[in-house]
Amino acid sequence: MPDIAFVNGRFLPLADAVISIEDRGFQFGDGVYEVIRTYRGRPFEVEAHLERLDKSSRALNLPQPYSHSRWKQLIDEAVGRSSHSEAKIYIQITRGSAPRDHAYSSDLVPTTVMTVRQLHSLDPKVMASGVEVVSTEDVRWGRCDIKSVNLLANVFARQQAKIAGAFEAILVKDGLVTEGAVSNVMAIQGGTLVTAPEGHRILSGVTRSVILRLAREDGFRIEERYLSISELRDADEVFLTGTTVEVLGVVGVDGKAIGSAKPGRLTLQLSKRFRDRIA
Ligand code: PLP
Repeated sequence: MPDIAFVNGRFLPLADAVISIEDRGFQFGDGVYEVIRTYRGRPFEVEAHLERLDKSSRALNLPQPYSHSRWKQLIDEAVGRSSHSEAKIYIQITRGSAPRDHAYSSDLVPTTVMTVRQLHSLDPKVMASGVEVVSTEDVRWGRCDIKSVNLLANVFARQQAKIAGAFEAILVKDGLVTEGAVSNVMAIQGGTLVTAPEGHRILSGVTRSVILRLAREDGFRIEERYLSISELRDADEVFLTGTTVEVLGVVGVDGKAIGSAKPGRLTLQLSKRFRDRIA
Protein backbone atom coordinates (compact mmCIF):
# COMPACT_ATOMS: atom_id res chain seq x y z
CA MET A 1 0.00 0.00 0.00
CA PRO A 2 1.87 3.16 -1.06
CA ASP A 3 -0.19 6.09 0.35
CA ILE A 4 -2.29 5.03 3.27
CA ALA A 5 -5.01 6.39 5.51
CA PHE A 6 -6.19 5.65 9.02
CA VAL A 7 -9.75 6.70 9.77
CA ASN A 8 -11.32 6.26 13.18
CA GLY A 9 -9.24 3.22 14.08
CA ARG A 10 -9.05 1.56 10.66
CA PHE A 11 -6.21 1.44 8.14
CA LEU A 12 -7.18 1.56 4.48
CA PRO A 13 -5.83 2.73 1.11
CA LEU A 14 -5.90 6.52 0.95
CA ALA A 15 -8.14 6.48 -2.14
CA ASP A 16 -10.83 4.57 -0.18
CA ALA A 17 -10.87 6.85 2.89
CA VAL A 18 -14.07 8.84 3.48
CA ILE A 19 -15.67 10.87 6.25
CA SER A 20 -19.19 12.22 6.64
CA ILE A 21 -20.18 15.48 4.95
CA GLU A 22 -21.62 16.40 8.37
CA ASP A 23 -18.18 16.32 9.92
CA ARG A 24 -17.55 19.58 11.75
CA GLY A 25 -14.05 19.71 10.31
CA PHE A 26 -15.65 19.98 6.86
CA GLN A 27 -18.53 22.22 7.97
CA PHE A 28 -16.72 24.63 10.31
CA GLY A 29 -13.00 23.89 10.27
CA ASP A 30 -13.62 22.69 13.83
CA GLY A 31 -10.47 20.64 14.32
CA VAL A 32 -6.73 20.50 14.75
CA TYR A 33 -3.87 18.89 12.86
CA GLU A 34 -0.18 18.05 12.83
CA VAL A 35 2.33 17.39 10.08
CA ILE A 36 5.26 15.15 10.98
CA ARG A 37 7.94 13.95 8.60
CA THR A 38 10.17 10.93 8.62
CA TYR A 39 13.85 10.72 7.83
CA ARG A 40 14.85 7.23 6.70
CA GLY A 41 11.61 5.81 8.03
CA ARG A 42 11.80 7.41 11.47
CA PRO A 43 9.39 10.18 12.51
CA PHE A 44 11.27 13.36 13.47
CA GLU A 45 10.54 15.06 16.83
CA VAL A 46 7.38 13.01 17.20
CA GLU A 47 7.01 13.76 20.93
CA ALA A 48 7.10 17.53 20.31
CA HIS A 49 4.46 17.20 17.59
CA LEU A 50 2.21 15.09 19.85
CA GLU A 51 2.60 17.61 22.66
CA ARG A 52 1.54 20.40 20.32
CA LEU A 53 -1.40 18.27 19.15
CA ASP A 54 -2.44 17.96 22.81
CA LYS A 55 -2.10 21.70 23.32
CA SER A 56 -4.15 22.53 20.23
CA SER A 57 -6.81 19.97 21.19
CA ARG A 58 -7.04 21.30 24.75
CA ALA A 59 -7.43 24.86 23.46
CA LEU A 60 -10.47 23.73 21.42
CA ASN A 61 -11.80 21.47 24.17
CA LEU A 62 -11.35 18.44 21.94
CA PRO A 63 -10.74 15.10 23.66
CA GLN A 64 -7.54 13.32 22.55
CA PRO A 65 -8.41 9.89 21.09
CA TYR A 66 -5.05 8.26 21.92
CA SER A 67 -2.20 8.46 24.40
CA HIS A 68 1.24 9.43 23.08
CA SER A 69 2.47 5.85 23.23
CA ARG A 70 -0.57 4.63 21.26
CA TRP A 71 -0.10 7.45 18.72
CA LYS A 72 3.54 6.42 18.28
CA GLN A 73 2.53 2.79 17.65
CA LEU A 74 -0.08 3.89 15.13
CA ILE A 75 2.35 6.23 13.38
CA ASP A 76 4.97 3.48 13.15
CA GLU A 77 2.40 1.06 11.83
CA ALA A 78 1.14 3.58 9.27
CA VAL A 79 4.67 4.38 8.08
CA GLY A 80 5.49 0.66 7.90
CA ARG A 81 2.36 -0.07 5.87
CA SER A 82 3.15 2.78 3.50
CA SER A 83 6.73 1.60 2.97
CA HIS A 84 7.77 5.23 2.29
CA SER A 85 11.06 5.97 4.00
CA GLU A 86 10.65 9.71 3.39
CA ALA A 87 7.04 10.21 4.44
CA LYS A 88 4.72 13.05 5.33
CA ILE A 89 2.42 12.07 8.16
CA TYR A 90 -0.73 14.17 8.48
CA ILE A 91 -2.90 13.84 11.57
CA GLN A 92 -6.27 15.55 11.93
CA ILE A 93 -8.74 15.42 14.77
CA THR A 94 -12.10 17.11 14.37
CA ARG A 95 -15.00 17.46 16.78
CA GLY A 96 -16.93 14.80 14.90
CA SER A 97 -20.10 14.55 12.91
CA ALA A 98 -23.43 16.21 13.76
CA PRO A 99 -26.29 18.05 12.05
CA ARG A 100 -25.00 21.52 11.21
CA ASP A 101 -25.18 23.89 14.16
CA HIS A 102 -22.41 26.26 15.29
CA ALA A 103 -22.78 25.28 18.94
CA TYR A 104 -21.95 21.68 19.69
CA SER A 105 -22.86 18.95 22.08
CA SER A 106 -20.09 17.79 24.39
CA ASP A 107 -20.78 14.09 23.71
CA LEU A 108 -19.67 14.12 20.05
CA VAL A 109 -17.15 11.46 19.06
CA PRO A 110 -14.11 13.08 17.42
CA THR A 111 -13.11 12.07 13.91
CA THR A 112 -9.50 10.96 13.81
CA VAL A 113 -7.68 10.80 10.51
CA MET A 114 -4.07 10.09 9.66
CA THR A 115 -2.54 9.89 6.20
CA VAL A 116 0.95 8.86 5.16
CA ARG A 117 2.24 9.91 1.77
CA GLN A 118 5.53 10.10 0.01
CA LEU A 119 7.32 13.28 1.04
CA HIS A 120 8.77 15.23 -1.84
CA SER A 121 11.67 17.14 -0.32
CA LEU A 122 12.54 20.54 -1.69
CA ASP A 123 14.81 20.49 -4.70
CA PRO A 124 18.40 20.61 -3.36
CA LYS A 125 19.10 23.36 -5.93
CA VAL A 126 16.37 25.50 -4.33
CA MET A 127 17.75 24.74 -0.86
CA ALA A 128 21.21 25.80 -2.04
CA SER A 129 20.19 28.96 -3.88
CA GLY A 130 17.56 30.18 -1.38
CA VAL A 131 14.10 31.58 -2.10
CA GLU A 132 12.23 34.82 -2.65
CA VAL A 133 9.36 35.77 -0.37
CA VAL A 134 6.67 38.45 -0.44
CA SER A 135 4.99 40.14 2.51
CA THR A 136 1.26 40.33 2.99
CA GLU A 137 -1.08 41.44 5.73
CA ASP A 138 -1.64 38.87 8.48
CA VAL A 139 -5.44 38.72 8.61
CA ARG A 140 -5.66 35.55 10.73
CA TRP A 141 -7.65 35.21 13.94
CA GLY A 142 -6.23 35.84 17.41
CA ARG A 143 -5.13 32.27 18.26
CA CYS A 144 -2.46 31.40 15.70
CA ASP A 145 -0.73 29.25 18.34
CA ILE A 146 -3.47 26.64 17.83
CA LYS A 147 -2.73 24.42 14.84
CA SER A 148 -6.32 24.49 13.67
CA VAL A 149 -7.58 23.35 10.28
CA ASN A 150 -9.01 26.87 9.76
CA LEU A 151 -6.39 27.92 7.24
CA LEU A 152 -8.21 30.25 4.87
CA ALA A 153 -5.97 33.26 5.61
CA ASN A 154 -2.87 31.08 5.13
CA VAL A 155 -4.34 29.71 1.89
CA PHE A 156 -4.88 33.25 0.54
CA ALA A 157 -1.40 34.36 1.60
CA ARG A 158 0.27 31.35 0.04
CA GLN A 159 -1.69 31.79 -3.20
CA GLN A 160 -0.61 35.43 -3.31
CA ALA A 161 3.02 34.28 -3.01
CA LYS A 162 2.49 31.72 -5.77
CA ILE A 163 1.00 34.33 -8.11
CA ALA A 164 3.94 36.64 -7.36
CA GLY A 165 6.37 33.80 -8.22
CA ALA A 166 7.63 33.72 -4.62
CA PHE A 167 8.14 30.69 -2.41
CA GLU A 168 6.51 31.93 0.77
CA ALA A 169 4.26 34.70 2.08
CA ILE A 170 5.55 36.61 5.10
CA LEU A 171 2.67 37.63 7.33
CA VAL A 172 2.74 41.14 8.75
CA LYS A 173 0.46 42.31 11.56
CA ASP A 174 0.44 46.03 12.46
CA GLY A 175 3.77 46.44 10.63
CA LEU A 176 5.41 43.54 12.51
CA VAL A 177 6.49 40.23 11.02
CA THR A 178 4.72 37.33 12.69
CA GLU A 179 5.66 34.25 10.61
CA GLY A 180 5.30 32.68 7.18
CA ALA A 181 2.09 31.14 5.83
CA VAL A 182 3.58 27.66 6.45
CA SER A 183 6.82 28.42 8.30
CA ASN A 184 8.48 30.47 11.02
CA VAL A 185 10.74 33.36 10.06
CA MET A 186 14.18 34.08 11.51
CA ALA A 187 16.64 36.88 10.72
CA ILE A 188 20.26 37.63 11.51
CA GLN A 189 20.85 41.25 12.44
CA GLY A 190 24.43 42.21 13.33
CA GLY A 191 25.19 38.61 14.39
CA THR A 192 22.02 38.28 16.54
CA LEU A 193 19.33 35.77 15.65
CA VAL A 194 15.93 37.46 15.87
CA THR A 195 12.57 35.71 15.66
CA ALA A 196 9.01 36.45 16.77
CA PRO A 197 8.22 35.36 20.33
CA GLU A 198 5.92 32.49 21.18
CA GLY A 199 2.39 33.62 21.96
CA HIS A 200 -0.99 33.86 20.30
CA ARG A 201 0.37 35.50 17.14
CA ILE A 202 2.49 32.62 15.85
CA LEU A 203 2.47 28.86 15.65
CA SER A 204 5.31 27.71 17.84
CA GLY A 205 7.15 25.58 15.29
CA VAL A 206 8.80 22.34 16.27
CA THR A 207 11.64 23.19 13.85
CA ARG A 208 11.82 26.70 15.36
CA SER A 209 12.49 25.14 18.79
CA VAL A 210 15.13 22.78 17.40
CA ILE A 211 16.92 25.65 15.64
CA LEU A 212 16.81 27.91 18.71
CA ARG A 213 18.27 25.06 20.77
CA LEU A 214 21.09 24.47 18.24
CA ALA A 215 21.75 28.22 17.96
CA ARG A 216 22.02 28.48 21.76
CA GLU A 217 24.46 25.57 21.80
CA ASP A 218 26.53 27.39 19.16
CA GLY A 219 26.63 30.53 21.32
CA PHE A 220 24.36 32.71 19.16
CA ARG A 221 22.83 35.83 20.71
CA ILE A 222 19.08 35.33 20.41
CA GLU A 223 16.28 37.88 20.64
CA GLU A 224 12.70 36.69 20.61
CA ARG A 225 10.99 39.87 19.49
CA TYR A 226 9.01 41.07 16.50
CA LEU A 227 10.89 42.58 13.58
CA SER A 228 9.23 45.27 11.53
CA ILE A 229 8.89 44.44 7.84
CA SER A 230 11.49 47.11 7.00
CA GLU A 231 13.92 45.54 9.51
CA LEU A 232 13.36 42.20 7.82
CA ARG A 233 14.11 43.68 4.38
CA ASP A 234 17.33 45.22 5.80
CA ALA A 235 18.44 42.12 7.75
CA ASP A 236 21.86 40.57 7.04
CA GLU A 237 20.28 37.14 6.62
CA VAL A 238 16.76 35.75 6.64
CA PHE A 239 15.63 32.14 6.73
CA LEU A 240 12.50 30.06 7.16
CA THR A 241 12.07 27.05 9.41
CA GLY A 242 9.46 24.31 9.24
CA THR A 243 8.90 20.59 8.98
CA THR A 244 8.87 20.58 5.19
CA VAL A 245 11.12 23.60 4.50
CA GLU A 246 13.64 22.60 7.22
CA VAL A 247 16.10 25.57 7.24
CA LEU A 248 15.63 27.51 4.04
CA GLY A 249 17.59 30.65 3.18
CA VAL A 250 15.64 33.69 1.96
CA VAL A 251 17.50 35.76 -0.63
CA GLY A 252 14.87 38.40 -1.38
CA VAL A 253 11.96 40.02 0.45
CA ASP A 254 9.46 41.92 -1.75
CA GLY A 255 12.09 42.11 -4.49
CA LYS A 256 14.77 43.57 -2.20
CA ALA A 257 17.91 41.40 -2.03
CA ILE A 258 18.95 40.08 1.39
CA GLY A 259 22.70 40.26 1.98
CA SER A 260 24.49 39.15 -1.17
CA ALA A 261 21.34 37.42 -2.46
CA LYS A 262 22.65 34.01 -1.36
CA PRO A 263 21.87 32.08 1.83
CA GLY A 264 24.06 33.71 4.50
CA ARG A 265 26.95 32.21 6.49
CA LEU A 266 25.03 31.78 9.75
CA THR A 267 22.01 30.38 7.91
CA LEU A 268 24.27 27.75 6.35
CA GLN A 269 25.85 27.03 9.74
CA LEU A 270 22.44 26.39 11.32
CA SER A 271 21.28 24.42 8.31
CA LYS A 272 24.33 22.15 8.63
CA ARG A 273 23.75 21.76 12.37
CA PHE A 274 20.15 20.80 11.60
CA ARG A 275 21.28 18.19 9.04
CA ASP A 276 23.78 16.79 11.55
CA ARG A 277 21.01 16.60 14.15
CA ILE A 278 18.88 14.59 11.70
CA ALA A 279 21.76 12.28 10.85
N1 PLP B 1 3.97 28.47 11.17
C1 PLP B 1 2.93 28.01 10.45
C2 PLP B 1 1.78 28.92 10.20
C3 PLP B 1 2.92 26.69 9.97
O1 PLP B 1 1.86 26.23 9.28
C4 PLP B 1 4.04 25.87 10.21
C5 PLP B 1 4.09 24.48 9.72
O2 PLP B 1 3.19 23.98 9.13
C6 PLP B 1 5.12 26.40 10.93
C7 PLP B 1 5.05 27.68 11.41
C8 PLP B 1 6.33 25.55 11.22
O3 PLP B 1 6.05 24.60 12.21
P1 PLP B 1 6.85 23.22 12.31
O4 PLP B 1 8.30 23.59 12.42
O5 PLP B 1 6.33 22.61 13.55
O6 PLP B 1 6.56 22.46 11.08
